[in-house]
Amino acid sequence: MSEDCIFCKIIRGDFGTEFVYETENTVVFNDINPKTPVHMLVCPKKHIETLNELEDKALMSELLQTVKEAAKKVGLKSYKTLINTGKEAGQEVFHLHIHVMGKV
Ligand code: AMP
Repeated sequence: MSEDCIFCKIIRGDFGTEFVYETENTVVFNDINPKTPVHMLVCPKKHIETLNELEDKALMSELLQTVKEAAKKVGLKSYKTLINTGKEAGQEVFHLHIHVMGKV
């Protein structure tokens, strides 16, 4: 948990953000500025800054499983996933997240 991380605050429940889906180690919430009709963010609960710092293979697997389950839950059959890694690639929030984008 990082004190000044916006996603850690969301995950901690500071803003009362509704979670679309949740597992033991992952959480899914809607992007505040959606680029597509459905735009969710899949995050590890643990503060991991970027994909480059993700070493836990079980967590990697759980994150992708969560992508599938969250998409299924909201009725997305077809969707895009995106992970921005690093500032130059467009990463704005330094808490690992997978964008899941599509329309139902
Ligand atoms: P990235 O550029 O890959 O780091 O993506 C960060 C994403 O987080 C952007 O799509 C933002 O719209 C989204 N975002 C930033 N703050 C919040 C927030 N408080 N709640 C939900 N999504 C957020």
